[in-house]
Amino acid sequence: MSKFWSPIVATLKPYVAGEQPRIADLVKLNTNENPYGPSPKAIAAMQAAVSDSLRLYPDPSALGLRQAIAGIYGVVAEEVFVGNGSDEVLAHAFVALLKHEKPLLYPDITYSFYPTYCRLFGIEAVEVPLQQDYTIEIADYRQACGAIILPNPNAPTGTGLPHSVIERLVAEHPDQPVVVDEAYIDFGGESAVPLTRKYDNLLVVHTLSKSRSLAGLRVGYAIGQRPLIDALERVKDSFNSYPLDRVAQAGATAAIEDVAWFDETRAKVIEVRERVSAALRQRGFEVLPSQANFVFTRHPAHPGGDLAKALRERAILVRHFAKPRLSDFLRITIGTPAECDRLIAALDEIV
Ligand code: PMP
Repeated sequence: MSKFWSPIVATLKPYVAGEQPRIADLVKLNTNENPYGPSPKAIAAMQAAVSDSLRLYPDPSALGLRQAIAGIYGVVAEEVFVGNGSDEVLAHAFVALLKHEKPLLYPDITYSFYPTYCRLFGIEAVEVPLQQDYTIEIADYRQACGAIILPNPNAPTGTGLPHSVIERLVAEHPDQPVVVDEAYIDFGGESAVPLTRKYDNLLVVHTLSKSRSLAGLRVGYAIGQRPLIDALERVKDSFNSYPLDRVAQAGATAAIEDVAWFDETRAKVIEVRERVSAALRQRGFEVLPSQANFVFTRHPAHPGGDLAKALRERAILVRHFAKPRLSDFLRITIGTPAECDRLIAALDEIV
């Protein structure tokens, strides 16, 4: 606290990111990063972008990148918004589309940045409880609301909703914006992007941090019909005209265009996820069905906090949430096969 603070600062509950420590020979499975690295073509494009041209501001509209994204999804650049990580895209969506007189709805167990944005932007929210089995039931969203946001697959559970269910949710709320945060969709889910053709209330948010292995570059995007994108642009241009620098625009464009690398690396993540899930189940763990690049798992005899600590002592970092209904669980990012072997070997010692 300080007398210099604006009044709102003391009321904020900032998001706490997974730690990024420097520990030798660390197996880092705590922040859902991709173990395979970005496309070599993206790295080359970024290296080329580090040049004298950095004295010039970047394209404020990032048109080349938006065209590349539009090409992948069969939309036009005007239906694509890009930002500094999907966190920034989401932040703009909270201001531009999710703040209404009636409350915003989102799951009670979900990406913990949502309540943080609500506090920052003064948005009233109602948290809709997940079912007993940690899934989202869209019938629970049939209530008066100003807007809805949910991740698909959800985080930190990893469980996904089928396309048909997302469509029902969007169709049931024709007068409310529905934001679907698809940060993890490329690891086995079915994207709702095609539904944006049919529904003017749907905005789908993606990130290059996970399936394009560019968490360090900070690029995310949203796809929706033009009025929704225009709203995001208006907020962006009231905040920061140049959220994506020249290096980020070059690298992100090349990464989006390298479909072969994307398909190869995400297939490897999915394959290792299934192997890790089976290995955990063999050892008595319950593993929620995951469509993401992580698994959410608990052991009937070992609390999540104890397991996380014991793994940490073996230089293996996983994420533990000391919160009601979550504290039994570990969220474990899918690493390389060798990292996952080390995880399983360590769990064999511990349990
Ligand atoms: N949405 C969800 C559900 C996430 O888990 C994350 C990663 N923390 C993000 C969005 C934000 O990712 P980024 O800002 O790296 O694009």
